Amino acid sequence: MRLPLLLLLAAAFSGCQTAPVTGRAQFILVDEAEVASLSAGEFVKMKKLPNDPRLAKIREIGLKIVAAARRDDRNGVLPPASRWEFAIIDDRSPNAFAMPGGKIGFNAGMFAYTPTDDDIAVILGHEVAHVICQHGAERVSQQLGVAAAVAITDEATKKKDAQTRQAWVAAIGLGAQLGVLLPYSRDHESESDRVGLRFMARAGYDPEKAPGFWERFAKIGGSRPPEFLSTHPADATRIRQLRGWMAEAKAQRPKG
Ligand SMILES: [Zn+2]
Repeated sequence: MRLPLLLLLAAAFSGCQTAPVTGRAQFILVDEAEVASLSAGEFVKMKKLPNDPRLAKIREIGLKIVAAARRDDRNGVLPPASRWEFAIIDDRSPNAFAMPGGKIGFNAGMFAYTPTDDDIAVILGHEVAHVICQHGAERVSQQLGVAAAVAITDEATKKKDAQTRQAWVAAIGLGAQLGVLLPYSRDHESESDRVGLRFMARAGYDPEKAPGFWERFAKIGGSRPPEFLSTHPADATRIRQLRGWMAEAKAQRPKG
């Protein structure tokens, strides 16, 4: 079985890249476009509030963040502005997400914690950072391992079996919809905090609002939804880290 081993090694080497901004080494074996297409299929199924008047605000802030992020997109993963879709999700739990391929969901329940545009920018900056850093694809790669990832990129497995499909869906952060929870790691969360702070500052929002937002948010009790609450770095650590990255973020502010 020499050939498959060689293929695996080739795949392993070709999978090495570095994350934008932080330069962290990443192991990504799956095609971002394929993760994006699966994400789009899940996004369609979600219950949205297309007539909510607050949607215009989410779109406006989101597009500013995406434009600000583009300067750091050296891996070329951000879709063009016209391809981004924004939705208010009909869900009272305070959560938000951004999917590979440019789908952003903001739960109706999140508005109670985002009185200002700066607060919304904290969230959207963090979420767009997950996308530009390809955390979804990286997690799929970790989850499935080299062998399975190679099999998936194979033409012959275009129609994925149910189990593989579920692993993908869980890995890109949509597990809650399926009752399978696979959160981002703390490393991914910290990276998104740092990169997101930079994006919000560059888009003209106040990064100093981020620590306060997370402090308020951390006080929410009850059942904790995925992504936004369950796995984020311990609150004190997160606040300390955000303060540490503040000068770096402020240097990105537009002049004048
Ligand atoms: Zn996150």
